[in-house]
Amino acid sequence: MAPRTVGAVRDLLAVVGATPLVDHHVHAAFRAAPSRAAYGDALNEADTDPLPAGVDPFDSQVGFAVRAWCAPVLGLDRHAAPDDYWARRTELGEDEVNRRFLTAAGVSDWLVDTGHRADDLLTPTELATAGGGRAHEVVRLESLAESVAQAGTEPRAYAAAFGALLADRVRGAVAVKSVLAYRAGFDVDLSRPSDAQVERHVAAWLKEVGRTGSVRLTDPRLIAFGIHEAIGLALPLQLHVGLGDRDMDLRRSDPLLLTDFLRMPEVSSVPVMLLHCYPFERQAGYLAQAFRNVFLDVGLSVNFLGARAASLVARSLELAPFGQVLYSSDGCGPAELHFLGARLWRNAIARVVGGFVADDEWAAADASRVVRMIARDNAVRAYGLPATGS
Ligand SMILES: [Zn+2]
Repeated sequence: MAPRTVGAVRDLLAVVGATPLVDHHVHAAFRAAPSRAAYGDALNEADTDPLPAGVDPFDSQVGFAVRAWCAPVLGLDRHAAPDDYWARRTELGEDEVNRRFLTAAGVSDWLVDTGHRADDLLTPTELATAGGGRAHEVVRLESLAESVAQAGTEPRAYAAAFGALLADRVRGAVAVKSVLAYRAGFDVDLSRPSDAQVERHVAAWLKEVGRTGSVRLTDPRLIAFGIHEAIGLALPLQLHVGLGDRDMDLRRSDPLLLTDFLRMPEVSSVPVMLLHCYPFERQAGYLAQAFRNVFLDVGLSVNFLGARAASLVARSLELAPFGQVLYSSDGCGPAELHFLGARLWRNAIARVVGGFVADDEWAAADASRVVRMIARDNAVRAYGLPATGS
């Protein structure tokens, strides 16, 4: 790096290091120490099978990033060997591991999706206590629908029961989230279904639940119903986009498939948060420019791209207006991921934006302002969070 670039990057690292992040999409950390196999599986997002024996999960961008950036937090040298890393982690225990990584993440507000693997994870309050800062809940719509079905409801009573449960659960929550991408994909009819349609689809779903014993909601018309009910409450809507495990069809999670949905007048009234986005971050950036209520982040993939994270963060700063880009880690399970998301993102944005300053494309003051917007100010505004972080 030229000396001018080094100086600009260093200045921006100081700015972003001093700015507490709003992690606007995250899950909690492990409650108890995982087995080494479970830990290894957590370092692979896409494969749903356990890693075969002989495959070292550390032999990946995220694995090398853990050894480079997480090892020092545990008191080891950078690039510690996997066996040494695991021994130290085990010696410290999960409470201490959580405390160290969550604190080191430098996050003031955690917006926690509570709809996934809640049993083996901390509660949002416990997460915030371990890491400092505040927790805010994000309610997952499909989980609510499934609990209505599980509680036993007549098809005709479903719409009212869902609406009542939603109204109750969002009290104190800051947003709702849909995993439509996982359950059906975006190439479906996302118009609001009529009451008669809802009743008919619920009847078919409940019949299926009785037959298979599985309550998992995959009917896009009922997912669309939940989304429109939530929009009626004027809460920000988070949508999983792009990278996820292979249970989902990545081809059907291209956010451009949401264009008709985003054109609906009622949808334009709420912030729509496109989460993760990789490898569709450019499509998401286009949508952010096309629709003033669309926001995007590149969380999750920042961790999995490791040393290549700066390229992704650079692409997130192409078409999207800077007021519509957000930070998230999407950490889930090992607290390394909560920390690493923050560390790699801070490194990447400083490097990318520092390059713009060194090239005299951006003024240094604008660079600092935009970095703070993405780190926290945009999320504070979009979610209506109290402005002062704890
Ligand atoms: Zn997530």
